Amino acid sequence: MLIKTLSHLARKKVPSQVVIQYTDNCNASCPQCGMRKSNKFLRSTMKVAEAKKIIDHAAKNDVSALSFTGGEPMLYFKELTGLISYANKAGIKYIRTGTNGFLFQNHTDPGFTRRMEMMAQTLAFTKIYTFWISIDSSVPSLHEEMRGLPGVIAGIRKALPIFHSYNLYPSANLGINRNVGDLKGLTARDPCNFYQGYKTAFKNFFDLIIDMGFTMVNACYPMSVDSTEKTGLDAVYEATSEAPIVNFTSEEKALLFKALADTIPEYRHKIRIFSPLVSLGSLIRKYSGEPDASYPCRGGADFFFVDAKNGNAYPCGYKGGESLGQFTRLDLTKNGDKPSCRECDWECFRDPSELFGPLLDMFDKPLSFIKKIRNDREYMKVWLDDTLYYRACDLFNGRKKPDYKKLASFKVKNSSSFVFPYPINIKNPSYANVED
Ligand code: SF4
Ligand code: SF4
Repeated sequence: MLIKTLSHLARKKVPSQVVIQYTDNCNASCPQCGMRKSNKFLRSTMKVAEAKKIIDHAAKNDVSALSFTGGEPMLYFKELTGLISYANKAGIKYIRTGTNGFLFQNHTDPGFTRRMEMMAQTLAFTKIYTFWISIDSSVPSLHEEMRGLPGVIAGIRKALPIFHSYNLYPSANLGINRNVGDLKGLTARDPCNFYQGYKTAFKNFFDLIIDMGFTMVNACYPMSVDSTEKTGLDAVYEATSEAPIVNFTSEEKALLFKALADTIPEYRHKIRIFSPLVSLGSLIRKYSGEPDASYPCRGGADFFFVDAKNGNAYPCGYKGGESLGQFTRLDLTKNGDKPSCRECDWECFRDPSELFGPLLDMFDKPLSFIKKIRNDREYMKVWLDDTLYYRACDLFNGRKKPDYKKLASFKVKNSSSFVFPYPINIKNPSYANVED
């Protein structure tokens, strides 16, 4: 792995990642997503033979990580598990997929345990690296109501020990939204309460999933494409929404990213948390008036999105106007235009771009790297801590249980009063009080 990463860096690239949207079919009703079952549009699902060609091309081009997304990928469990095995045999190590949780419904049925065992056994056989289960709220009833999937929280709780017995450690995926807790009516007009409300909601969320039995978690940052904003973004698929539940102002984003960054350190020794603090720090800076604080996104350079409809490649799922043509004809090893996009916060591409940023500088622009160490010590400290944490988490290997001895070194003193080193610096002076 190390040698492979170094060889990428030497070529001014980072280990590449492809997100394959296997389907845009879904059986859930999430208000924040255009693919919810009630939304009428022409749906598409990839053919297995086409998906195999995409996997072959990815493997030939030295792709390290492959994700199968949807819609709801687990509607096609048999096809998916076959494709995961196929990708693994083709030499791709980091293979991920997940579910909205519908499989965990009806947990009181007599056949539930047997069904979970079959599912866990089949998934475990594929050598999948990460299997995620989406959970959108620290309040179980709110989550189930939004997804339209009653009973899933109890079902997941019951299924997790079964998954663990097959050495499968699913990750909880939190899609941040205004229902992440009981936050009704909170806006940035009341910044202190907004910040405190989200901090409490994130704490409650971590407590809930630890109590359910999860050993790993990731946060998906809110994605919305506002048609009134001149962002230039145009989603390839229907994953975005203008629904108020995922629309946050810049001020609110700064506050909620700060609330998350201030909460994570308290939990890093209890559960493996994928969200890198360095990335949250850059987002706080971005929404506090430093738009170029982050490293530019590697979407379109090393990371690609392939759609279910045509098998076309895009720089990401949010650049529908920039088709790169058939993925199977794309030369992924080429160095294209210099990455410069920072238009969205899509964690799948933004988090690894941020984490690899300083490493790439070390190889490509050593002077910039030295300058960063000198001038932005706080950033480099957080980045180094993240890289050590990633190592302690065994790169979030979802096939191994956490090594709590290694995680223990990330326990912070006085965790309840921990404050992430980036202050909020928004024009409105009342934001200065946010840490009080
Ligand atoms: S967020 Fe996922 S589960 Fe919910 S409607 Fe969209 S694709 Fe389906
Ligand atoms: S920041 Fe990355 S994921 Fe977001 S629009 Fe730009 S290229 Fe796409």
